[in-house]
Amino acid sequence: MDNTPVREDVTASPIRPGSLGWIIGILAIILVLFFLRATPLALDPPRTENAPGQFDTARAIERLGKVLDGTPHPVDSTALDETRTRLLREITALGYTPEIRVHNACQSMGEGAIRCAFVQNVFFRAGAGDGPALVLAAHYDSVDASPGFGDDGIGMAVWLEVAHLLKQETLQKPVVFLFTDGEETGLLGAQAFVDNRESYGFEVSRIINLEARGVRGPAMMFETGRPNAGVVSDWAKSGARPFSNSMMTAVYELLPNSTDLTVFLRAGMNGVNIAISDGLDFYHTTRDDLAMLDRASVQHMGDQALGATRAFIAADWNDDATSGEIVYSDIASRVFVTLPQVFALVLLGLCFAVSAMLLVRPTRESGWSRLDWRALALPPALVIGAGVAAFALQQVFGFIRPEPAYWTAYPQALNMTIFAATLLAGVALLVWLAPKSRPEALHASGWFWFLILGMGLSIAVPGFTMIYLIPGIVFVIASAAAWLFPRYQPVAYCLASAFLALIFFPMIHLLDVTMGLGMAAMFGIVEAMVIAPMLALIGPMAAHRKPALLALGGVLGGAALVTLIMPAYSVDRPLALNFTAHYDMDESAAALFAGARPGALPAVIRDQLSVGEFKSPPGASPNLAARELTFIQRPIATATVLGEEASAGGGRVVSLRLSAAGSRAIRLRIPPEAKPLRVRYHGRLYEARPAENGSYVIDITGRAADGAVVEVTLGAEKSTDWLVQGIWPGLPNDADDLADLRPDTTVRIQMGDVTITTKKQKF
Ligand SMILES: [Zn+2]
Repeated sequence: MDNTPVREDVTASPIRPGSLGWIIGILAIILVLFFLRATPLALDPPRTENAPGQFDTARAIERLGKVLDGTPHPVDSTALDETRTRLLREITALGYTPEIRVHNACQSMGEGAIRCAFVQNVFFRAGAGDGPALVLAAHYDSVDASPGFGDDGIGMAVWLEVAHLLKQETLQKPVVFLFTDGEETGLLGAQAFVDNRESYGFEVSRIINLEARGVRGPAMMFETGRPNAGVVSDWAKSGARPFSNSMMTAVYELLPNSTDLTVFLRAGMNGVNIAISDGLDFYHTTRDDLAMLDRASVQHMGDQALGATRAFIAADWNDDATSGEIVYSDIASRVFVTLPQVFALVLLGLCFAVSAMLLVRPTRESGWSRLDWRALALPPALVIGAGVAAFALQQVFGFIRPEPAYWTAYPQALNMTIFAATLLAGVALLVWLAPKSRPEALHASGWFWFLILGMGLSIAVPGFTMIYLIPGIVFVIASAAAWLFPRYQPVAYCLASAFLALIFFPMIHLLDVTMGLGMAAMFGIVEAMVIAPMLALIGPMAAHRKPALLALGGVLGGAALVTLIMPAYSVDRPLALNFTAHYDMDESAAALFAGARPGALPAVIRDQLSVGEFKSPPGASPNLAARELTFIQRPIATATVLGEEASAGGGRVVSLRLSAAGSRAIRLRIPPEAKPLRVRYHGRLYEARPAENGSYVIDITGRAADGAVVEVTLGAEKSTDWLVQGIWPGLPNDADDLADLRPDTTVRIQMGDVTITTKKQKF
């Protein structure tokens, strides 16, 4: 037998596996892929020409500019009246007949609060037939501070253009365009629609809702009804690039956020929710304007909404109830895969079985071998180590930097710090925990833990299955290739790792975009889970440990340094900063409060304020930076008793008329001792669910607040001290000098600057 070594291509190369060049090269590729993790999410630029029947972004934007004039248009305001008038004009110009339904609506906000307002829903019909309709929904109100071009101008722009295009088609089913009011005040328009459905004169089969939680980025499908197979499969036929996975929808379901669609789904309807969510720094702010709204996002949402609408019309809605549950995911937003939930879980189990088998028989030649305990211990050690390291790094930076969210302007720096720390921890564990472990053992153990984690998560929340199954299947194929053709093992492992990066790196970006980096430990943990299987490409680390560790240490040090020195806020990623002037009518005291945490304030403002000297307004966070204002007698909010009687259950029913001339909202804070049980507003009764040990809040927003009558049923017989608060837009004159000092790295948010009066009254 000839003993001369066979000169394979792979081993002859100067960067053969195990060489210093190979190790540094793999580490560099992993770092670069992570750095560019948002690339697969980049949208196609707006088309300059459109085929007939294709969504026209320029036309949609132009029409939106005719509906919104740049003024905030919150619920029950003059600006919203004007917006509605322009909206009705555009609908009529498209050849449709708009209708309006008005309601005095309330929504219980879970524990501790109820919000009420006067809302006016706008809708118009298209299509034919009397059967249940496909409802295409968006809301047309904005928050008080925001011009609302993204939230939810994008929804209006898209549906009006879809309405224009559908006008030229013969629709086989009834379609209703629904523009709800009061979404920002507690989904009030949607709730009123659900509560008064008979007055609208149509039934609902499916709903497509359009939303925005930012100003750019892909339009993602992030919420569905149940069962989901029918609506998701039909949505996927839209023809636009798909951005969705069942993990996203499952996680969204677990979060307390909600939009109009949540209300519709709760009422038993089925449908999908599509939203853009990048550019969260501008969400609900003064800068959610026409210039900021990304045209590529409008086109993407438009193509998707139009395509999904056509697919929904063509679908058979009768099967929805029996369609079953599927799990799904896009792959780099180019391919969309779906599987029945149970089937996917079984497949994931089979992938896991392959990884378990490889633990004890890493290669065909090796036969059944002893378990490499060190390789097996590496991934869990890395997950724990990376979580702890990310948490510790964030804490250390937090000690050095005064701003609570110092990573806001340049999130890439902290992202790279966490990722480099995780990669460094992985290599360090290769060096010290498993220095002799063979690549096959590292491959098997990395995937074993990845898949066991995926199995556990998928059993708890089935939506997770697909994002583990896709890399899991590639792992099985790659492992089979390595098993049969050992010389191509590095190529096979690279392929499996590439798929991991392709699925998970963009997802880590989305996690950052939608949830922020507040929980750095979570990012370390997810990244460790993905990096562990990749370590098979560079282990064992008997040689070259020093240069590899040094190189990664250098990257970590550089990223950490950038994280430490970059400004916390910028014009493109500003600090949300409102001012609140608070008049305590009982103490005859007034003060001006900065809404952001004191450490985050620009020096020019922080220097003029003190912390701890002034008591924050009721309900606001404690220890806000503030300064004194001249106390003056000014309009305030009051409540007058219209009637009081004993209630059947032993308590009292108190009827109050609220007044506060020119106010934006009136708020009642009822102490827990009063034991509020029910609230009646315009004839409708709402159960009060007080928060534990907290006061119960009743909010009436809009012009209807002044003169509103509320009836509260209380469990307590004795009267208690309530707080009656009035909220006015804007600040008093003696606050202007400070408010005007805000640099362009700040932005007003939600209600914007307001003046609040608080008065104690016994009821
Ligand atoms: Zn919205």
